Amino acid sequence: MDYLETTGRIFDVQRYSIHDGPGIRTIVFLKGCVLRCRWCCNPESQEYAIQTMKVQGEDKLIGRDVTVREMIELVEKDRPYYYRSGGGLTLSGGECLCQPGFSRDLLRAAKERGINTAIESMACAEYGRMEELFPYLDLYLMDIKHTNPVKHKEFTGRSNELMLENARKTALSGQTKLVIRVPVIPTFNDTVEEIQDIARFAATLPGVDKIHLLPYHRLGQDKYEGLGREYLMDGIEPPSAEHMDTLKRAVHAVCNLDCQIGG
Ligand code: SF4
Repeated sequence: MDYLETTGRIFDVQRYSIHDGPGIRTIVFLKGCVLRCRWCCNPESQEYAIQTMKVQGEDKLIGRDVTVREMIELVEKDRPYYYRSGGGLTLSGGECLCQPGFSRDLLRAAKERGINTAIESMACAEYGRMEELFPYLDLYLMDIKHTNPVKHKEFTGRSNELMLENARKTALSGQTKLVIRVPVIPTFNDTVEEIQDIARFAATLPGVDKIHLLPYHRLGQDKYEGLGREYLMDGIEPPSAEHMDTLKRAVHAVCNLDCQIGG
């Protein structure tokens, strides 16, 4: 079968994004994730199944099946913006590795058209599946949420051993640029010691020179209500700008990584 006919399930496309990779980007959000992070701001991404969510009182269908051809035609419309800004295509979710064939083929279509590619992913997948993406991947924005497996399991539903091992294998492969991103979540990983543990781990990964600290926000809260789900972070405040600066200094105290807040 022509790889352009590979199908995948997405729930959103965001154009003209200036986050999630260099330059101006088109973000394709894929359905499905194996984690259940308590703070997830895209809870409608977690189930692979197509769902109904109440949005401003109206039922909205979340999820649709598309081909690589449809998606790349849409992505190509933004080529002038990529050209001027150094931007491109980013796959997000959900977890794009839950649909590895579609992700690989969409990245391939972009690369074959000279479009820069990135993924946002937490690397919870069989490494062989991840490797299939690397020939077509310029930048891997990889979430590392915690170094402690017990706490990781308590707050996300899964332990972190596979993800840490995959981070190491990805870095050692040298096949794609790797940036480590840490969602900073109060009550989970926002102490100086916890962030320094993650930074020390990231600094051991060959080729990694950047770490991004992403402060928790509540933008996804209404979606939980729309899905009839409880919001488990109720009452938890986002970290202050002062605390984020403290964490940034704490990273610099233990490693030479370039640390930025946001990104
Ligand atoms: S890994 Fe990302 S998409 Fe999956 S549950 Fe966690 S925050 Fe949500």
